[in-house]
Amino acid sequence: MNSNFIEVNHDNRSYLCLKRLSELGIKNGFTRRSGGVSHGKIEGLNFGFRVGDNPDAVRQNYELLANDIGFDVSRIVCARQQHTDNIRIVTEADCGKGVIVVDSDICDTDGLITNISDIPLVVFTADCVPLLFCDPVNRVVAATHAGWRGTAQKIGKKTVQLMKSEFGCKPQNIIAAIGPSIGACCFEVDRDTAENFDKKYNIPKLNGKFHVDLWAVNKDDMIDEGINPENIYVSDECTICNSDKYYSYRTHKEHTGRQVAVISL
Ligand SMILES: [Zn+2]
Repeated sequence: MNSNFIEVNHDNRSYLCLKRLSELGIKNGFTRRSGGVSHGKIEGLNFGFRVGDNPDAVRQNYELLANDIGFDVSRIVCARQQHTDNIRIVTEADCGKGVIVVDSDICDTDGLITNISDIPLVVFTADCVPLLFCDPVNRVVAATHAGWRGTAQKIGKKTVQLMKSEFGCKPQNIIAAIGPSIGACCFEVDRDTAENFDKKYNIPKLNGKFHVDLWAVNKDDMIDEGINPENIYVSDECTICNSDKYYSYRTHKEHTGRQVAVISL
């Protein structure tokens, strides 16, 4: 584990938090699988309502998360993610969408931004790359789901662009975290998928496949937008190498739950 992150434990639940954000009073965390009340094949701390879990168990898991990290469960906002590059500016009227109101109008959306305090923004992943952003000066936070499709569509870069255009954020003030997700060690794809990314991110393998470094693509896109490399923190935890600790779609196939990344002003 990267030393810029701290592991926070509550009972048998374990979260990775970016130390720098926590020190600034910004509530943040990347969840792991252990603990939680979900049973069966997706046993653990599952946050996906659409993976065959009992909705009451998922709700209870959100309550555990809210208590552990310290925010109001009824104000969480999350989207129905679809591997798009659509980003929503979250307002007070959105509070509760995705958890209290599971079928909300936040569809086809993979990034959330707000400048309102006490609105926890949540994105789900199970190998895809979760990105958290915070401008502590203008007080703006964002959570973005960047799978390979979202990364290819530059959703991380677009999140930063919106933070600048909608809220006047200066990129040199932005702190970003790239959370636990599939690493270049395990993200093996065929040539067609690899060709969505610049050659420098593709490692050719003897079997004709390629390993793609999605963390590096996302980091470089942030640097392109003016974020200081020193303010970008990569957790360095691969969800496949650590599939005992995380839900992993590639490892557990369709029988997998979802972890979340959360951030709140
Ligand atoms: Zn790996």
